[in-house]
Amino acid sequence: MSVVQRKAMLKAEGFFPHKKNAKGTTIIYSRKHPTAKFVRVVIDSGIDNKTNKVVGKVGVKLCFVNRQKSWREVTIEIFTTNTGLVKTIKAQEAAEKFVKTCKHCKAKKFTAKSGKVVCSNACWTTWSGKRNSTNKTQGVAGKSVASKTKSSQKKPQRNPGKATPKTQRTYPLNKRVGKKSQKKRQKIVAEILPGDLVSVERIELDTFKEDYTGKILGIVMSVTPDGRVNVNWTANTSNLESYDLPFTNSYTTDSRHVRRIKVLSRSVEWAEAA
Ligand SMILES: [Zn+2]
Repeated sequence: MSVVQRKAMLKAEGFFPHKKNAKGTTIIYSRKHPTAKFVRVVIDSGIDNKTNKVVGKVGVKLCFVNRQKSWREVTIEIFTTNTGLVKTIKAQEAAEKFVKTCKHCKAKKFTAKSGKVVCSNACWTTWSGKRNSTNKTQGVAGKSVASKTKSSQKKPQRNPGKATPKTQRTYPLNKRVGKKSQKKRQKIVAEILPGDLVSVERIELDTFKEDYTGKILGIVMSVTPDGRVNVNWTANTSNLESYDLPFTNSYTTDSRHVRRIKVLSRSVEWAEAA
């Protein structure tokens, strides 16, 4: 039944099955992105092509079709069930505008096997040909110089034999506690809604520190009246554990480090609670 339902949903959303799946036995579907040129919405149906049975969740991702007609995965694949399928397709389509574009040829960028984010057309191979060869020699020379300096600096330049006696050391504890810590504590909130495609960002004392877009991705499943956000984290290639990920729509300004939810699919601001 869910196979029939899943296929019907894909058909209703305008998807057509591929004849082949180079990576597995499930049926792949795809169609054009509604607005972005050369971008396709690609779905791993999770339906086995031989048994016609559901063998897994449905995966939704975006691919960029490059000049050589190769498909480059430009988003992380989000897995969902029949219930979440339409919403996930919409969320992934919305994620297109967060995919970086090559400034030389306007193709979408993707994460290569090396881990580098590069142009889908690999256009640098055409425009950097000449410069590249000279660069190479420079690179080698530069490297040897660099390693030389490195080895000569091997020993840390510490004042030898003279350590400050323990009693004379200045510990943070000895410092006067500034008035800053008595700053008024404020509640910062954001409107986070079910269906939002989200990532994580880290701030430290109100200053932006780190953006996890591209490393962490999730879909908001629900938000409770007291502000608890239940996120289905679908991808996490960061060094954060799942218990490090944010789960509320608010925090207070007295917390030094904050990891907060970053909404990708809409424009959402964190602001002082009214
Ligand atoms: Zn390019």
